[in-house]
Amino acid sequence: MHKDVVIIGAGPAGIFTALELLRKGGRQSILIVEKGQSVENRRCPKGKLGRCANCKPYCHITTGFSGAGAFSDGKLSLSYEVGGDLPQLIGEGLAQETIDYTDKIYLEFGASEEIEGIEESQEKKDIRRRAIRAGLKLVDCPIRHLGTERAQSLYLAIEKYLQQAGVEIRFGYECTNLILEGETCKGVYITDGKMEQTVQAKHVVVATGRRGADWLERLCAEHNIAHQPGTVDIGVRVEVRNEVMETVNKVLYESKLIGYPPPFKNKVRTFCQNPGGFVSQENYDNDLAVVNGHSYKDLKSENTNVAILCSHNFSVPFNQPIAYAQKVGELTNMLGAGHILVQRFGDILDGKRTWAKELHYANVKPTLPDAEAGDITAAMPYRSMMNIINFIKAMDHVVPGFAAEETLLYSPELKFYSNRVKMDAAFNTNIQGLHCLGDSSGWTRGLMMASVMGVLMGRQIAEKE
Ligand SMILES: Cc1cc2nc3c(=O)[nH]c(=O)nc-3n(C[C@H](O)[C@H](O)[C@H](O)COP(=O)(O)OP(=O)(O)OC[C@H]3O[C@@H](n4cnc5c(N)ncnc54)[C@H](O)[C@@H]3O)c2cc1C
Repeated sequence: MHKDVVIIGAGPAGIFTALELLRKGGRQSILIVEKGQSVENRRCPKGKLGRCANCKPYCHITTGFSGAGAFSDGKLSLSYEVGGDLPQLIGEGLAQETIDYTDKIYLEFGASEEIEGIEESQEKKDIRRRAIRAGLKLVDCPIRHLGTERAQSLYLAIEKYLQQAGVEIRFGYECTNLILEGETCKGVYITDGKMEQTVQAKHVVVATGRRGADWLERLCAEHNIAHQPGTVDIGVRVEVRNEVMETVNKVLYESKLIGYPPPFKNKVRTFCQNPGGFVSQENYDNDLAVVNGHSYKDLKSENTNVAILCSHNFSVPFNQPIAYAQKVGELTNMLGAGHILVQRFGDILDGKRTWAKELHYANVKPTLPDAEAGDITAAMPYRSMMNIINFIKAMDHVVPGFAAEETLLYSPELKFYSNRVKMDAAFNTNIQGLHCLGDSSGWTRGLMMASVMGVLMGRQIAEKE
């Protein structure tokens, strides 16, 4: 098969590449290869079964058209300060300008007009004052909240638009490798599990998301694609009653706080806050169960959840952050008999595990019912655990009650961003014709920034026509 452009992965980075290429009048033939299903055929059985079915060969939550975005909460972060390090590559000005442009595309396809977190109220000033006193930085970030249901219909509209415009999308096909001739990428190998095919293309765009990060790392090693070990985030998902987070939820919707707590002074931050939301489980292909969180526009719980993440970097003699985080995850899963572990903050401070019956005594009831009560400290590295404990204590000054005894900590929350592919500002790797985008490239960490990278890629390819 011959195509002008082949895009691996139909997450936001991949689909916005195709979308912008069309919007710029590009007439190149485009193939998107996606190992999961179309939006309308993505079905997570958890709603019916009440538990994660550990679907094989892949998890429908993170795989399929719109990638990890379709079933996610769909919170679009509208500030260049949030969503990854792309601004370091392309400049803060262009990043913000493209966020504003991409946001308009989301609106065209049905995103809600509402933006959270833009008022400068007295309450917001008070939150910032308390954060300063606690040694935390409050990052301003307006949020457009799609909600899980709306995100699905929006991405369905984009899927139909692309198909009607002539973009070929091969669902159920996985890219296995690149076709290289010397220092030039000539295409890819793809398979539907039965037969391998080759696709020759002038431009190969790899946008395989977090799930495809370790695959891309292997390709980098095999084909000498210039890269460097990136960061991996290890942390927990914290769950408290809505009453505790009420002011922050109302004023900021999403509080983005960053701190460098003693004794290690590593960067620790809050991430993905879900007022009235639900804690969820994701399963990676290698059976690793990790915790996440999401919220619905209409269905609300009595709790708010938010991730607390610590960044880890490695250099010599060990430089495999993904492998490190996987080991932490595996150990935690082992202690939870394959389930997510949950522990009360008070029990961590008291040095004891949490028992299932103790979860019933509290105001806060876990929204992930199949989480196993236990001892997350038995698997969490000392450095990460201290970072989390001290960050939670600092958060308590900003949000009184956050460090309550009954506060729930779910583990493992792992973010695999590592393996940063070295590229110039036009997303050219050292291999001619090969471009790496989105979360798997190590440059983005969110829906909007991945979409922005896609938009800029689409423009670059359109200009080369
Ligand atoms: C539960 C959950 C909630 C989230 N909530 C938010 C949120 O509210 N706001 C936010 O900004 N971000 C959120 N995120 C993160 C966000 O979804 C990602 O940052 C974003 O989707 C990254 O886009 P991407 O295009 O780089 O990759 P992805 O969206 O991960 O898409 C990559 C695609 O590539 C496909 N793929 C992988 N390998 C191959 C292969 N070899 N061959 C073919 N196809 C392949 C995958 O199936 C996938 O569909 C959430 C993530 C999860 C899991």
